[in-house]
Amino acid sequence: MGENFAFFLPIMMASFGVLFGVVWSWRVRAAGFWSGAFFCIAGGFAVPAAFAALPSSIWGFVADMLFASGFLLFSQALLERWRPSWMLPVRIAIWGLSLLLCAIAIALDHLPLELVSSDFGCFLLVGLPLVAGKDRLDNWADRILFGAVTLTAADNLIRGSTVPLTLSGGDFQDSAYAFFMQAIACVFGLFLALAALAATMLDLLARYQRDALHDPLSGLLNRRGFDETLARLMRKGTADGSLIVCDIDHFKAVNDAHGHALGDRVIVSLARILAQFAPPSAVTARFGGEEFVLFLPDMNAAQAAGIANDIRESLAREVADRLGLPQPLTASFGLATLQRGDMSIHEAIARADAALYEAKARGRNRVCVRRALSTPGAPAADSPSRACHG
Ligand code: GH3
Ligand code: MG
Ligand code: MG
Repeated sequence: MGENFAFFLPIMMASFGVLFGVVWSWRVRAAGFWSGAFFCIAGGFAVPAAFAALPSSIWGFVADMLFASGFLLFSQALLERWRPSWMLPVRIAIWGLSLLLCAIAIALDHLPLELVSSDFGCFLLVGLPLVAGKDRLDNWADRILFGAVTLTAADNLIRGSTVPLTLSGGDFQDSAYAFFMQAIACVFGLFLALAALAATMLDLLARYQRDALHDPLSGLLNRRGFDETLARLMRKGTADGSLIVCDIDHFKAVNDAHGHALGDRVIVSLARILAQFAPPSAVTARFGGEEFVLFLPDMNAAQAAGIANDIRESLAREVADRLGLPQPLTASFGLATLQRGDMSIHEAIARADAALYEAKARGRNRVCVRRALSTPGAPAADSPSRACHG
């Protein structure tokens, strides 16, 4: 049995090392720690084979060091998600102290002391993240990972506490200690690796989902993100609200005169102003180029026009000065309210676009409104009311 483990465990652990290495190459930092940890544990379990090939008293300490380092990396990988770098000096001290005790035990030829030092060191290293993580389990993958880590910590604690019972024979390889260590490592190690992989992949998926729905320059939602968020709001029953579309005036001239990079800074500045004036319930998106859209749930046209005007004034007052532009920098706004009979939000966007067109035609730097005349219970209005101010 022991010989089967001798090959299976290092290969299994190293396979996870490779797998997490691949995930790490996709810019997932924690996966680098998982990869290093599994390679260390694989090395630790490969030590008996190395000893058989090249007998030497140094191998015992090499195994202790690989296990301790593997568990230090486990703790680092876990804390990356629950509390980055928490108690790092303390964990390094535990790692060093457990190895020092292992070295003393080896010098005294005291195997039980060596095993207890190693097991308790590993228990503390993997147990500390449980303390940090217990209040931060956001999703099912985190909770399963927490369970797997709890089992691993308990395994080390129980194994370290029962050394006198399980190491009765004196010979390590034939001891019940070695058998249980390897058998439990197969099951719990696999569980821990799969739980960590699930949690890491879920993070990666969330990151790609976030990237797919956001504009990287402004950090606001992109068109797809806006559509999905609006669809969710509509499903939840949001039926009223106002829509603002906003377009920077003569932006091409800004790019032409001052360069694309400064144009980008203008876009970022306007995005910040939008986020500053939009209420928390607002859905704010960059629709492309220098066009932005704001949906304000349950807000009537007068309230929304107030917000659009605040944004317009703030942009005109601050951004050109801050970026050192000689000419004023302004934007035009079109506003529409949701209307009974709208088949989709895009009908309201089309009305807001028409209002924006009017704002541009009337000289820019203003807010134009197409207000729905319909009220709840009344039929949809044929001709929305119109107004411009700025
Ligand atoms: P108007 O007042 O009528 O809106 O005039 P405009 O010049 O703002 O309108 P136009 O649509 O002709 O120009 C939009 C410009 O926006 C053209 C394009 O070079 C620029 N643009 C689009 N996307 C970006 C971007 O991501 N960064 C920068 N810097 N410029 C962009
Ligand atoms: Mg423009
Ligand atoms: Mg435009």
